[in-house]
Amino acid sequence: MISGQPERKRSRRPDSRRRHPLRVFVLTGGLIILGACAGHQPVVPAAGPATVYRSENYVVYTSAITPSAEALASEFLGDSGKSWIIEEANRPDGFQSERAIVIPLAVRNKGGLKREGFQTVPVLTYHRFGDNCDSPLCMPADVFDRQMRYLKDNGFHTVTPEELLAFLHYRRPLPQKSVWITMDDGYRSTYNVAYPILKKYGFTATMFVYTEFVGASRLAVTWDQLREMKSKGFSIGSHTITHSDLTKPHPEESADAFIARVRRELGQSKQIIDKKLGQNTIVLAYPFGYYDRRAVNLAREAGYELAASVRRGGNPFFANPLALKRDQVLKRDMVTFKKRLQTFYPLALE
Ligand SMILES: [Zn+2]
Repeated sequence: MISGQPERKRSRRPDSRRRHPLRVFVLTGGLIILGACAGHQPVVPAAGPATVYRSENYVVYTSAITPSAEALASEFLGDSGKSWIIEEANRPDGFQSERAIVIPLAVRNKGGLKREGFQTVPVLTYHRFGDNCDSPLCMPADVFDRQMRYLKDNGFHTVTPEELLAFLHYRRPLPQKSVWITMDDGYRSTYNVAYPILKKYGFTATMFVYTEFVGASRLAVTWDQLREMKSKGFSIGSHTITHSDLTKPHPEESADAFIARVRRELGQSKQIIDKKLGQNTIVLAYPFGYYDRRAVNLAREAGYELAASVRRGGNPFFANPLALKRDQVLKRDMVTFKKRLQTFYPLALE
């Protein structure tokens, strides 16, 4: 973005020697941004250069040319992907020339707490996709596209398991409108149908696969397809080996045999995915969404840090990371879809 900035000669202003060194330094940064987002416009705008005031925790930035949040994030926060931090610190109509823009430098509000309540992160769950669907577990491609377009048009950010975990550990804030998209089981249609649509909108998602199914039929995703998705920023989690209920012994199964089975389903599926994809698998979706205290403890023992059920609801920062709520997207109307996207829980905190 900024690396393509051509070198240009600038005439010195007469008073530039008397300027504070820091002021000159940040002023230069501002000019680079202006050049980066101004397209063919001159680097030094006719109306005057940017002014920047900096403290330990904030930068206040004003310029003659409308800056983009991405360019400001790239310059001052070192990552254009952090533009949401600047967007949330300013009014939506604040990104205009000659208007002061606040850029927070310090981490703020890690848990998404406000006087009126707290942030919750909705988690959407899908299974299969197709053009002609015969089951609520199958989402038609055009409906999925409409849902993702809705998320994009309404300022939602998709989060990775690592980002969600940092939020749940009260280490990092998330964008106010964050959503985690998950797809269970490992159907090939997630690769053929959902993956291109998600990429089109710049979104990411997590696939939960049960390892016995991967590559087992033409309906299943392959390890190569999972590797490709992973290389594009998608993440892969475990859904056990055989999609086994981790809360109930089989008929005739002894208590010891049952616990050994749960340990095997959790531990070996992680080992297989770790090896096949060269990663440390830390996310799990309980098969059928069923879990109990024992399953949670054995999941933790196996090395998982984030595990999801299918109990409805969002997740505040104080949710149990190994018992997260998710909403299965089974209906196709937008009214129901929007109801699944609550990102704030109103509650008078004082
Ligand atoms: Zn499943």
